[in-house]
Amino acid sequence: MSPAPGAHGSTSLLRDANEVLVAGILREDGPASRADLGRATGLSRSTIAAIVASLLRAGVLVEDGAVDAAARPQGGRPGSLLRFRPEVASVAVCALYQGEVAVTLCDASGAVRERSLIHVDLSSERCLEEVADEVERLAGVPGTPPLGAVTVLSPGLIDRRTGVCLSFPPYGWTDVPLKEPLARRLDVPVTVLSPPSAAVLGELADGAAVGHDEVLMVFLHIGLAAGAVTRGRVVHGAAGAVGELGHCRTTSSTDPCICGRAGCLETVAAGWAIDRKVRQVLRRKEIPHTLAGLAAVGNARVDGLLHEAAVEVGRATAWMVNMLNPSIVLLGGTAYAQGATAYFELFRETVRAEAISTGHAEPEFALVGPDSDIRGAIRAALEQLPEPVRPRRSFHV
Ligand SMILES: [Zn+2]
Repeated sequence: MSPAPGAHGSTSLLRDANEVLVAGILREDGPASRADLGRATGLSRSTIAAIVASLLRAGVLVEDGAVDAAARPQGGRPGSLLRFRPEVASVAVCALYQGEVAVTLCDASGAVRERSLIHVDLSSERCLEEVADEVERLAGVPGTPPLGAVTVLSPGLIDRRTGVCLSFPPYGWTDVPLKEPLARRLDVPVTVLSPPSAAVLGELADGAAVGHDEVLMVFLHIGLAAGAVTRGRVVHGAAGAVGELGHCRTTSSTDPCICGRAGCLETVAAGWAIDRKVRQVLRRKEIPHTLAGLAAVGNARVDGLLHEAAVEVGRATAWMVNMLNPSIVLLGGTAYAQGATAYFELFRETVRAEAISTGHAEPEFALVGPDSDIRGAIRAALEQLPEPVRPRRSFHV
């Protein structure tokens, strides 16, 4: 590893850059001695000593036992191991669902410390106050690291820069600010993400897309949308309203859509539309709420609905594959799609049949499990923490 850049910067800037470098090595590569850090950075013993002392004072690092004697062939006074201290800060994720808000509190390494679920009327004026109350309650538990950043997962069209939900008709939302009121109340940076953008970030940071720079994800749940990564960073679009795959027109439907138009892909393939059609077919209210559960019903007409959905989503995805040339295509990311292997195989075969073949480096495919969006939202919050506490690599901020 080469030393940190900044040879022409001021002394304090240089020290800050080197503090970021040293904290990052310990955060991501695990405990190390001062001598290890000197070798990894090329910095002198005295510089490493000053940086480590500063980071210890700030609570970013902790001394964590002596270096194993076997690792000190020259003998001498045993050095101590230094460890990144995840208790230096916490982050919170607030996932807004219909009538419920799931709050997840993590330490600075992203490990979950607390989860809670509160009932909130999201169409009410006071809803964000209630969300902030719950974050403060969890963050106020004795022994909890100080809150450093928050991510809000919101449905609807999100303007990522302003953190405003531009539109979500089911809550009666038009131009509802989410970021600014929470940031003012909690006094920490707040970012607002759509679940599909968060999901692709989650898979990129520590899931199925690790090591990929070009990623496409179809996020399949009660609605249907896409997330994309190019050059290793999540695509947000001009106003953050990227990935509205579900509201592209399909030729196989003229049904009305929740967006107010008709014939959208969602009317064939979103969970809300499939649920509605399956209830009509089975003539009952109680039906399975997962694709795997619906496939297990064993009804030929239900199977036909799932078949049509998988083919139509595959066709739409083939357009995006031609557009973006991803190295991996992910499907799912939710409990709704978990274990939907037959659906996934039909989806994959449709994409392969309909997307143009480059003849080499064809994309991989993966069906991914639930919680991609929560993991991505945690990552987005961690990337908002101040240096030197935040992750070394940024996929989002
Ligand atoms: Zn629509």
